[in-house]
Amino acid sequence: MKIMKFGGTSVGNPDRMRALIPLINDPDKKIVVLSAMSGTTNSLVEIAGLLYADKIDEASLKNEQLRAKYHQVVDELYATEKFKKSGHELIDSHFEYIRNFTLRVFTKLQEKAILSQGELISTSLFHMLMQENNIRAALLPALSFMRIDKDGEPDYFYIEENLKRELKKCPQENIIITQGFICRNAYGEIDNLKRGGSDFTASIIGAASRADEIQIWTDINGFHNNDPRFVENTKVIRNISFDEAAELAYFGAKILHPSSVNPAREKNIPVRLKNTMEPEDIGTLITADCKWEDYKAVAAKDGISVLRIRSDRMLMAYGFLRKVFEIFEAYKTPIDMITTSEVSISLTVDNSEFINEIAKDLRELGGVEIEQNQSIICVVGDFRPERTGSAPEIFEALNTIPLKMISYGGSPYSLSLLIDTSNKVDALRQLSKHLFK
Ligand code: ASP
Ligand code: MG
Repeated sequence: MKIMKFGGTSVGNPDRMRALIPLINDPDKKIVVLSAMSGTTNSLVEIAGLLYADKIDEASLKNEQLRAKYHQVVDELYATEKFKKSGHELIDSHFEYIRNFTLRVFTKLQEKAILSQGELISTSLFHMLMQENNIRAALLPALSFMRIDKDGEPDYFYIEENLKRELKKCPQENIIITQGFICRNAYGEIDNLKRGGSDFTASIIGAASRADEIQIWTDINGFHNNDPRFVENTKVIRNISFDEAAELAYFGAKILHPSSVNPAREKNIPVRLKNTMEPEDIGTLITADCKWEDYKAVAAKDGISVLRIRSDRMLMAYGFLRKVFEIFEAYKTPIDMITTSEVSISLTVDNSEFINEIAKDLRELGGVEIEQNQSIICVVGDFRPERTGSAPEIFEALNTIPLKMISYGGSPYSLSLLIDTSNKVDALRQLSKHLFK
């Protein structure tokens, strides 16, 4: 069995939805994971924001606009009156559900219920498209098997058991459609796997069902060796390891949600990145083995803040780092990059929600400086500790750009650098010139 996940743009309009039919309509058994139509989750987030702010009229207006857009989708998607009628009814039932939230006090729980509507609608519309085309397919509700625990992590035991049970209900169908992103939490309430989480859904399902392959379909041919939005002549990487892919996904390559590498790696299930616009292209294959190359790819992550802590108390002291880390832990803020000297530490975070509180607590330990608008550049390649002569080209490429931090030796697969975001595009272009000649 394979898992085929199609993102928001791949189901972004009626033509794109119809274009998926030839990709999935073959005798192989598959679970098709769909995102919401592109833009929908953002609109639902906006509606929830307006409800929080008690701007009921504005929320209703937005809701009606989105409803109207979907009625148009239905008109264009189906050929027959029968399916158009059912489609309109389906849309009305979902938007009435959202509208009902304007009548009560608004809570986080209700926000999650609103956000789940995007995937529920896209999968139902797509399932009906299958029926109209006389293609046998089952619609499997993700809320009946996908679940996170109290820490927000997938509850693999529950998922495996429940997915098995649900799959037994549709032994005849080769095409099984389900929602990405949405799940239940430990209390059985509707929740989600965080923005962009449909890739994660696909990987979790792939791991839980021991699939042969997990395919993530987007509109680019796979991982590129640099960011095609800023750099010309980037190349597709055909093979990459789970570890390398995790570094790239985490440090900026937008094509794959970083959490989605883990479940696949755990069960050693290959992940293939494919392009719906160019399905004959083989894409990028992510597997356990790693073919070392000096430089494989470069990616950048923006929105980084650096905190620099200086304290003479650190000199020859033990336990100092623990105190620093405990402060970040207290604010549930993960640290990305660290460098230390004898009396100072520099740390980066990508979530600056509590940065002022963290800085205040850190000041108990020493002097603290914060700098924002930073970017991490991650170079994936061969940085094994035993090799010599690694990385001179990186420093040659960046010799006109101030380097704020360098992290080398943390992983054999990557080297990361911190620079001002204003230098990012220049840095990416210089790196391509020097590393991928
Ligand atoms: N629809 C969700 C989002 O926009 C999940 C996803 O597309 O992966 O974040
Ligand atoms: Mg995505």
